[in-house]
Parts: sequence; structure tokens; C-alpha cells
Amino acid sequence: MLTQNLGYPRIGSQRQLKKACEQYWAGKIDLRELKEVARKIKAENWQTQLDAGIDLIPCNDFSFYDQVLDTSLMLGVIPQRYSSVLSEVKANGEIDLYFAMARGYQKDGLDITAMEMTKWLDTNYHYIVPEFTANQEFHIFNENVFGEYNSAKQQLGQKAKPVLVGPVSYLLLGKEKEQGFERIDLIKKLVPVYVDIINRLKQLGSEWIQLDEPCLALDLSKKEKEAFEFAYRSIANRVSGVKLLVATYFDALLDNTQLAVSLPVNALHIDLVRAPEQLDEVLALIPEGLQLSLGVVDGRNVWKNDYEKSLNLIKKAVEKLGTDRVLVAPSCSLLHSPIDLDLETAIDPEIKNWMAFAKQKLNEVNEIKQIAEGNNGLLQANKKAIEARRSSEKVHKQAVKNRVAAITEADAARTSAFPVRQQLQHERFNLPAFPTTTIGSFPQTDDIRQLRAKFKKGELNVVQYENAIELATIDAIRWQEEIGLDVLVHGEFERNDMVEYFGEQLDGFLFTKNGWVQSYGSRCVKPPVIYGDVSRPKDMTVRWSKFAAAQTDKPMKGMLTGPVTILQWSFVRDDQPREVTTNQIAFAIRDEVVALEQAGIGIIQIDEAAIREGLPLRKAKRPHYLDWAVGAFRITASGVQDKTQIHTHMCYSEFNDIIEHIAAMDADVITIETSRSQMELLQAFAHFEYPNEIGPGVYDIHSPRVPGTEEMASLLAKAADLLPARHLWVNPDCGLKTRKWPETKAALINMVAAAKEAREQISTAEVI
Ligand code: GLN
Ligand code: ZN
Repeated sequence: MLTQNLGYPRIGSQRQLKKACEQYWAGKIDLRELKEVARKIKAENWQTQLDAGIDLIPCNDFSFYDQVLDTSLMLGVIPQRYSSVLSEVKANGEIDLYFAMARGYQKDGLDITAMEMTKWLDTNYHYIVPEFTANQEFHIFNENVFGEYNSAKQQLGQKAKPVLVGPVSYLLLGKEKEQGFERIDLIKKLVPVYVDIINRLKQLGSEWIQLDEPCLALDLSKKEKEAFEFAYRSIANRVSGVKLLVATYFDALLDNTQLAVSLPVNALHIDLVRAPEQLDEVLALIPEGLQLSLGVVDGRNVWKNDYEKSLNLIKKAVEKLGTDRVLVAPSCSLLHSPIDLDLETAIDPEIKNWMAFAKQKLNEVNEIKQIAEGNNGLLQANKKAIEARRSSEKVHKQAVKNRVAAITEADAARTSAFPVRQQLQHERFNLPAFPTTTIGSFPQTDDIRQLRAKFKKGELNVVQYENAIELATIDAIRWQEEIGLDVLVHGEFERNDMVEYFGEQLDGFLFTKNGWVQSYGSRCVKPPVIYGDVSRPKDMTVRWSKFAAAQTDKPMKGMLTGPVTILQWSFVRDDQPREVTTNQIAFAIRDEVVALEQAGIGIIQIDEAAIREGLPLRKAKRPHYLDWAVGAFRITASGVQDKTQIHTHMCYSEFNDIIEHIAAMDADVITIETSRSQMELLQAFAHFEYPNEIGPGVYDIHSPRVPGTEEMASLLAKAADLLPARHLWVNPDCGLKTRKWPETKAALINMVAAAKEAREQISTAEVI
């Protein structure tokens, strides 16, 4: 039985790659120094995997920015707009072109936009979306992959296994940049280049090559299925003497099982953490000779593997296939997991004993294999840890479980229907038409960040810290009053991050020191870990909202993060369904909403930035998810009186397929990101006749550009064409914490002016 790994985190255990890239971009180190950092990380990663006894070790899984962008460069898929960069950047060669594609290029009189970035399937990792044209050609443009293999081979010998993004997924995860063709039809032109690459790797000595085809776990059209058949048949016909492994992950193969097992390759990898149930069907259909890699160790979470569970799956496979045809592996690339649990010195040792990061997961893979081969001595310690977690009082809180188990319809419904609430709220707040507000955060200046850092280090005491935050808050309020905003916010100066801030105050969460995971390029995130039943020991935001409200006569909006977003941006428990954890969080946030109401806060925003990204990959699973996600939001929002106005906020733009569920959330007001699409996505709301109030973002907060009054007024006019004017609010696309004050002030002054203009444009009849 062989063990293998599909990919290893590349940022370095101390985020060396992040730091080196940022220094390189700032011109502080040169290419040689950058490459040296990369070389060290790779060598260390390979050694770790060797030491863990892994038989097939990935190479070419390293990337300076993103593995899909690497693939685009390898295949010469370089959008036309970079052609001048290509000729400009002679000194360092392709890497500057590569970074320009990732980050945009503003130098030497050039101003070229970056390529689009989007989430890698259902993860929080973002890849750079390949851009295809009708006449797209492919050729080996960048030869990096061969160098990567050569250096891996020096260290690993025959264990070195190059990893490529598979040709079909590469096309499917890209985008047509002009009309008149379908990118999947490019497969005919693409396959010959893959054949060349595979043959060259073989000549260099490669025994195994891994082709990642995560799209095999998605809903596929007939044409897409045919593309898989065509691609792998063509490759099989034209390469020999090298073993191909197709890797799938993140969901079950389902109706693609027959297709996947009949691809003419040597091995298929399946994700048995996300979809253990698929093993039976795969075993039933697997043809003679195909090897099966069992992804039994969770590559996307932080928990110790339950060896018994994994061994049962392996046993089943071995019975049918024999040990020779079975490989043991993590479920997917370990890119999505933090690197080394040993570096965490501050985690409660009892809980730490239930956890495993990338390095530990490789040991698990090796131990599981050894046990499967008869070394039973290794089972005991694992059993003990799993059992301890199962029964620990740190995890299980009966009162929390009872509350969630007793959820009723009434917990998830406001007292009255929206029209009744709207009437009461309009009377209470007496706001003008097109009321203006912001999404919550104001610029997090260096001063503010330093305040929090000093407080954390103990260089400031509570009183000093809170005084300083109070001053920043008062400033922001004075200034909002001055420019004439209608509903004010306190600015979120006390918050580091919209999830961490709540996680730190809730029971059932823990935080790591080094548990970084790559989000995109040099950006890493350190998600909280939800290990136990979640509850709220005390008020979390009331102190700041109350303080802020006392500074002004205008309505002050309370500001919370919603349960689905907290879940989605954390490492979650694997010992209960996600919806149960979400409902626990929902009750905790609900109690905070009620506490805010009792403190006199009349408008409360519950941000659900991540509802859409939790959407399952497979269509069939979406209704169930949307049901519980919407239900959880409603639980948080339904503890208050009719006259309390609940807002929600979502910063993305595709609502078409989920609009009915967005409406079912029944927030009194929703604010969304619309400016970049020129209000186009409001169509979904108009078409659906969205019943509640809505604040379509009138300016893009992702850039320092200050939009003019006219520009925003015309967007508002567009919105008023589509939706009843009395339902419309005026706000930016999202929070302003990444912006600087000067541009923020200028933009908001214009925004308030635009709202005034819109008020003058419409007759009073329309807004009553
Ligand atoms: N209230 C948050 C803020 O303004 C919302 C952020 C978000 O939606 N991502 O920062
Ligand atoms: Zn947002």
C-alpha cells in the first residue's frame, strides 16, 4: 500500500513566502533573494514529507502566487493587455509578467489591470481566473515545471510526483473573454500541449504525474463529460511509461463516477472526508487495473483523524482491490490547512491533543497505512484522543444543545410581517427618502492598528486603550453628523476582524498563533477554530454601541456578524453537522441583538458576507443549505420588536440564483454591492419584486477613486427605475476599513449630495 500527498502549504511555517514576495514587490529584495526563500521552503517541505514516510511527494505544488496562474503562464495563456509588460520587463524575465498578471501593473507609464480572482471551488483560497479568447493558442511558454521536477528529483528521487492542474478543469475554471465560442471547445488545442509536458516530465524521470480535476466533482454537462473522455483518451494514446493519477476532491463524483473510473489513467483519487459514501459506488464500478487513492485525512480542517473510521474505508477498498491497488492520502491538497501544530504553544493541551495541522496529517497518513498493514500498536493513542474529545466537557454544553434542539418556527419569525414593521419603523425614525448610511467600518489607520497592537502587548492598559478608541469613535460620529448622513455607525475601531472579534468573546472558539492559511497571493488568514458548543458569556458590542449612541441624536446602527459568516470563516467542528454549529452561533448573536435593543439601539445590522460562498458545489445540495443558512439568520434577527429595524449586508454580486432565499431572510433592509455592475444586479431584485428595503451600493470601496455626485445620482436614478423609491437606501458597496480618510470623506460628501439630488428628482407621492 502506498501513501501519497496531493499538495503542501507553500507559504512557509513563518509566512516566509508572504514576506519575501512583499519585499520583492517593494523593491527591497531582488529576484535571487526571492528565489532563495522559495528554494528553502520547498526543500523544507519535501524533507517534512520524506520524514513522514510519504511515498509519492508532490512537486510543482509550490507557487509564488497561485497554481492556476502558474498553469496559465506555463501554457502561454497571457491576456493581450500584458504584451507591453512582456517587452518591458527584460531584467527579471517572466516573473514580473507573472506578478503583473496577478496584481496589475502601474509603472513606466503603463496602467494595466490585474486578472480576475475568484474562489477555488468552495474553499477560501482564491485563484487567478484564466482568460480565453476565441482564437486562443496554447504552447509551453514557461518551463518552470521541469525545473521544479528536477530539483524535487534531486532531493526525493523517484518519490517526486509533479502536480498539474488537469486540462479540463483548467478550461472550466477559466472564462471566455469574448463572445462566439465556448472555452471547453479549446480542449482539442490544449491537449497536445499537455501531452508534450507529460512526455517531457517522463523523459526527465518522472514515474507518477498528478492531474488535479476537481471539476469531476461538479455538475457536468454532456459536453463537459465528453471533454474529459476526449482529453484523457488523447493523452493515453500519446504518452506511455509514466503513471497518471487523476485527483478529485471537495465532493462526491455522483453521476460522474462511471466517467471518472473509466478514464484511461493509472489511479483515481477520491475525497472520502467530504463524501465517504461514494466509496461503495466507486468500488462497484472500478475497472480492473485502476488504482484508487483514498483521501481519508481531512485536508481542510484541523482535527485529528479518527483512525478507526479511516481504516474501515481502507478495509473495504482492500477487500475488493488488494493492498497493491490502494493508496492512502489526505482528502485534498494540504494547502487549505495550517502548517504545524507543534508551533502552537498556547493552545489548551487537552484540545491540542485533538488537533492536527498539515505536518501532523502526513504522519497520520503514514500511521493509518501502517495500521492497515497490521501494526495495530499505533491505534491506541488515536482511539484515546478521539474518545476524549467525544466526551469532553470542554466540547459539550448541555444547555446549548437543548436550546438548539428546541428551536421552533416562532424563534425564526418576527412578530409581524414586513409591511407592518416598515410602517412602525418609518414612524419611529422619520428618515428622509433615500436615507444615507455606511456599512460599518471606517478607515483603520496605522494609529488605530497600533492602539490595538499595544493593548494586546500590554503596553496600554484598558483605560488608556478604551479612551483612545472612544476618541476615534467620537471623531467619526462628529464627522458623520457634519456631512449629514442619516443613520450613523460607530466605525468599528475596536475590531480587528469581523469574525475574530466575536470569536474571541464567544465560548467554544480558540485562536492559534501561527495557523495561517493562504487566501490569495501573499494574503493569509488565521481562521478561528470552533471546538465546542458555542455560547455567549456576556455582551459583546453593547458597550461600544451604547457609547456611540450617546454621542448623537441621530440613529446609531448596531453592528454584528451573522452566524453563517462566522461559521464559514472559521475551522468548524467535524463532530456535528454545520447547521447545528450555525444555530448555536445564531442564538448567541440573537442574544446580542436583543441586548442591543434593550440598550436602546433601534437599528441593528447583521452582516452575512459569506452566505453565498457557503453554497454547496452540487446543485442538489443547495436547497438544504439555503434552508438552514436562512433559518439561522432569521433566528438571530427575530428576537426583537417590530419597531427595531434589522439590516443585513452582503458584499458580492450574484443574487440571481438565490434571490428567493435572500428575500426569505426577511431583513428590514439589505445593503449589497452593486456599483461595479452599474446596478445591473438589481435586476434580480426588481424581477423578483423584492419586498423589503434595499441599499444598493453606489460606490466601489475597493479602490481609492472618489466617485462624483453625478455618477452616484445617476446610479440612484437607475435604482429608482427598478425598485420602489420608498424602499431605497443610499450607501457604499461595503465597509471602509481598507480606505484612507481623505478619499472616504470626499466620497461620502458626494454620496450625501447625490441622495439630496435624488430626493429632489422624485415626487413625494413616490416615497410615501
Ligand atoms: N460591517 C463590516 C464592515 O463594514 C462589513 C464587512 C464586510 O461585509 N465584509 O467592515
Ligand atoms: Zn461587505
